[in-house]
Amino acid sequence: MHVSIDWAVCCGAGMCADAAPRAFRVIDAGDGRRRAVVSGPAADDVLCEAAYACPTLAIRLIDDDGRAVYPPAPPATGGR
Ligand code: SF4
Repeated sequence: MHVSIDWAVCCGAGMCADAAPRAFRVIDAGDGRRRAVVSGPAADDVLCEAAYACPTLAIRLIDDDGRAVYPPAPPATGGR
C-alpha cells in the first residue's frame, strides 16, 4: 500500500503517530508548523487505523493497483 500525507491539511496533532508509531512521526516543517511524515513501513491494517484516526483526512492510501483505499471516493450524484 502506498501512503501519502497532504501537508495542506495536516494539522500536526499526531494521531497518526499515536496509532502507528513506526509508520508516522511528526516533525517541525520549518515554517512554524508541525506536520506528519511517513517514517517506515507498516501492515495495511495499521496504516488504515492511522488514516481513520486522522481528523483532517490528510492521509491518503493507494493500493498496489493505484486505486484509492482511503479516504473513500464520494458517491456519484447522478448529475441531478
Ligand atoms: S493525524 Fe492527520 S492531521 Fe494529524 S499529524 Fe497525522 S496526518 Fe497530520
